[in-house]
Amino acid sequence: MGGVARLGVLLAVGSVLAWTGSAAEPFKLSAARAKRSVAITFDDLPAANSSFRRDLLNDPKVFIRQNEKVLRELRRMKVPVAGFVSSSFKPSSWDMQDVHALLEVWDKAGAALGNHTTSHRDYHEMTPAAYFADILSGQQFLESALGKPPVGQKYFRAPYLHRGASQSTREQLEQYLNEHSYRIAPVTIDLQDWVFAEIYIWADANNDQVGKEAVVKGYLEYLEASIKHYALLSAVVTGRQTPHVALLHANALNYDHIKEVIERFRRQDFEFISLEAALLDPVYQQMPSASGTWIRGWQQQQGLPWVAAPAPNRYLASLSTDYQKRPLEQGRAALQ
Ligand SMILES: [Zn+2]
Repeated sequence: MGGVARLGVLLAVGSVLAWTGSAAEPFKLSAARAKRSVAITFDDLPAANSSFRRDLLNDPKVFIRQNEKVLRELRRMKVPVAGFVSSSFKPSSWDMQDVHALLEVWDKAGAALGNHTTSHRDYHEMTPAAYFADILSGQQFLESALGKPPVGQKYFRAPYLHRGASQSTREQLEQYLNEHSYRIAPVTIDLQDWVFAEIYIWADANNDQVGKEAVVKGYLEYLEASIKHYALLSAVVTGRQTPHVALLHANALNYDHIKEVIERFRRQDFEFISLEAALLDPVYQQMPSASGTWIRGWQQQQGLPWVAAPAPNRYLASLSTDYQKRPLEQGRAALQ
């Protein structure tokens, strides 16, 4: 496909998804439908704090049983997963034995486990030296909690997907990761599930069943639109269907509705592969210079305009303003 034609497709994808969110497809990229694959990854293990009920988090045994159930379900659906651990997401009432028990569940389920730093701070607001110390202590936490180094490839996932605000800091990070034998875990499908998850848990805390159901409905519709957006964008930007890596978070919304979440990928002809298998594709040797999703980085490098992904707020329209304001009150801007 030539540059101009690709740009036309790109704009069509963006306008349709951004403005109508319609389930109807405006066109079909036949090659794009041929084969789609995705590796499912979860960030913020052991548990994204504000996205779980406090009473559940405060009882590690119950929480670990829930994780077992989710991982069993994923296994039944033949969905390999990877999980990224940051000690900042260790619930304050847990000791290291609890973290060990949780990570062991993931490890025994065959999940790849990777480092997501200790503090979950933003590289773009730190010196490289401070960031590398954070990566090192993140690895120490992961290995001591698990009781061994994770099996297989050593992975690093950058919080906020920030890999350096300047060329120099980016190169320093790359060099550090190379020297320490890390493979950076890319993301091509960035699902802002945490926005929905915080609202979901707020509705739960308020015993608002109707609100909770509305968030779930909105989330699943949003997932459908976002998956479609990134799959089509990827076909346009790379000229083929590359294996995807989807970013989800360890939160109650995903855990309570894991079957429906996976179903949203399956419906769009995705098959599920491991992170390791996805990264065998040579496209992942071309790390883009921009932070964020790699699709976006590759797109910028080709000089194509950015087409925004579907915004969560459109899928929460049935909820009261109080709900929609909530993540904003917590200093998050993603609903804009
Ligand atoms: Zn994170």
